[in-house]
This record gives sequence, structure tokens and C-alpha cells, in this order.
Amino acid sequence: MSQSNQSQAWIERNDQVIAKTYGRYPLVPVRGAGCKLFDADGKEYLDLLAGVAVNNLGHCPPRVVAALQEQAATLLHCSNFYNIPQQIKLAELLCEHSFAERVFFCNSGAEANEAAVKLARKQSNEKHGSGRTEILTALASFHGRTYCGISATGQDKVKQGFAPLLPGFRHLPFGQIEPLRAAVSDQTCAIMLEPIQGEGGINIPPQGYFKQVRQLCDEHGLLLILDEVQTGCGRTGSLFAYEQEGIAPDIMTLAKGLASGVPIGAMLATEELAAHLGPGSHGSTFGGNPLATAAGIATLETLLDEKVLDNCRTMGAYFKAELVKLQQKYAFITAVRGRGLIIGVEMSIEGGEMVKTAMTRGLLINCTVGKVLRFVPPLIISRAEIDQALNILDQIFSESV
Ligand SMILES: *Cc1c(COP(=O)(O)O)cnc(C)c1O
Repeated sequence: MSQSNQSQAWIERNDQVIAKTYGRYPLVPVRGAGCKLFDADGKEYLDLLAGVAVNNLGHCPPRVVAALQEQAATLLHCSNFYNIPQQIKLAELLCEHSFAERVFFCNSGAEANEAAVKLARKQSNEKHGSGRTEILTALASFHGRTYCGISATGQDKVKQGFAPLLPGFRHLPFGQIEPLRAAVSDQTCAIMLEPIQGEGGINIPPQGYFKQVRQLCDEHGLLLILDEVQTGCGRTGSLFAYEQEGIAPDIMTLAKGLASGVPIGAMLATEELAAHLGPGSHGSTFGGNPLATAAGIATLETLLDEKVLDNCRTMGAYFKAELVKLQQKYAFITAVRGRGLIIGVEMSIEGGEMVKTAMTRGLLINCTVGKVLRFVPPLIISRAEIDQALNILDQIFSESV
């Protein structure tokens, strides 16, 4: 088979056996290094999607690869019936650098949110008796694809045809305190929000919103659950997005960027709260296994040691400023918003075709909610790489007017 046919052959085989849950692009990545991805025919791409905000340290970060190789040759997995040193170390690191005192490990963002919702309801049940089970979440939110996840999510498109959903969720406008306040009742046990809505279109609430939400929770004895699955692990320029809001949650969920691409999820909570999930109340076979948590330790240590957060803030500010310049050039760009390296370009036109064109020109980007181009590149991206992306984007925009 000739080299240029390798990708096509994989695409045809994909069509035969893979469930059609994704409308996949005709791209077959086989190797990655830093911000670059290479397809089965050797073509190079600049990756500003990073596995959807997963590869925060770029593809195959050497320290994580080394930790994985060593751990794979030593102990891949053992049961949570035992004490797992890598899991303990990763939990210690997370607690040392956050509000949290206890960590539950699982394998994905949706599972982390499941754990958060279970903990919130268990705490409410043990503290207030049955009946106080409602969780307020936001319209346009995204919390994962399990039944709990789609029930919590404030977008109809993920729910269609899957009824009956998990009861006990109400969805209110994001970034507005009054509707949230009006929705609190004696049934409410928690408020669950993303610090910045990722899938929902890179929506950033007004300054001071989270202080008001925290205050509302405190007034009514509600738990504040922050879904930092996408915003956590350095994405917004601080290790966790909540740090920039001057508040702390009661529960936080992490996943995407936590182990550089090895599947992992984590639910973090205060000591007092976590006490409500006792032995036998929750679990996961793979959750926090030695392999995944070894990758998590190397990822977190790199994020903390290697000026990655500095780079994220500097490059994020640069990228956003340059995108604002493009906004001044193209009237169909209606907004540019972001923090650190989670950036959205809202347009008055559809972005789907732009994503395809960018791919043919060696640039991987994403479009969410139809008209928002989403950029979530590795946090180690260089100025030269951002310039390369901007050049391609400028070209594509100029062809779209
Ligand atoms: C991606 C995402 C999830 C779901 O994570 P999975 O690992 O796909 O289950 C949940 N919440 C937010 C905010 C996300 O961005």
C-alpha cells in the first residue's frame, strides 16, 4: 500500500467496526511530540485542540513518558482494597495545592462528577434527612455523558431520546446570581458549576459572580461543586480556575489534563464532607491505579516546577490580543474571550467548515456550539507556534468574508 493511502485505509476500517458516536474528521494521528501531531501518512499538524484540553504538557511529555515506562514495568494495577503509593502521592500533591483534604480517584470527568453528586446527596441525607436532594446547575453547561452527567448538563442535545433522566437537577442561566438565588428552596442541596463553560462556548461569568455564588451557598448551607474537568490543571493560568475567583468550593472535579492523556478522574473534597463517603459507599476498580496516578504525579510536578503556568498566562494573553486584532479585521467575529489558554472566538457564521479547512492546512482547532472556535492548546505552546496558527486563521478568515 502506498504511503498516502495509509490514512484512507484506517478510515475505511473505522467505518466498519467503531460505533458511530462521533462524526470523525478524516485524520489518523499516529504520533505526537510537543504541540505537533503526525498522521499515518507522515503529515504534520499544529495541535490547538490537545485532545480536548487533555495534553496540557503537549504530546508525550518526556517526564510523564519516563514515569509511565518505569511504572508499567513495575506494577500496572492493583486493587483499591490495598494502599497504593502513587495514588497517595498524587492525592498529597493535589491537597497541598488546593482547598481539598481528601481525594477520590476514578477514570474520567463524568465519573468524577458522579462521585461529586453522590457525595452531595449523601451528605445532605445524613445532615438534613431525605428530601433535600436538588442540585442547581447552569444552562449551556457540560458535565459528561453518563446518566448523571447528561442530567446535570444544561444542553438538550445530549439528552434527546435518553429519558428518563436522573431527577433532581434544575438549570439556570450561567453568570447571573438572581435566577440562581430565586431557584434555591428547601429541596436544594448543592450548586454545581464550571468556572468557565468549555463545551458551552467558552462562557466566562462576570467578575464577582463566584463570590456571590459562594455567599449564596453559605447563607443556605448548600455545597458548591466546581466542575474543573476542563479548567483545572493549569488551563486558565493558575493550577485551578477557582483560585482566580477568590473563593474555594466544597467539592471539585478534575480529569482531562490531570495525567497527560492517561485516563483519570478525581473528586476532591474537604475532610468534613468526605467523611460522608465511608467504606463501601463508593468505588472504582481502576480508579487511581498505579499507572494512571504515576502519570498524574509526573504531570502535576511538571506543571508546578517548570514554569508551565507562566507560559500559559503569557502565551494566553498574547494569543488573545492577536485574536482581538483579527476581530477588528473581520466583522463576523463578534467576541474573543478566554483566560490563560482556554480561548473562544465567537462568530456570526458557522465554524464547522473552518475547522475542516484548517486541518487541510495543518492546523487542528475545534468549533463548539456551532459558531465558537475553541482553542485549548498545550500550555507549553511557543510564540512561534501561535504565530503559525494565527497566519493560517487569518487566511481562512479572509476566505470567509
Ligand atoms: C470533558 C468534560 C467532562 C466529561 O469528561 P469525560 O472524561 O469525557 O467524562 C465533564 N465536565 C466538563 C466541564 C468537561 O469539559
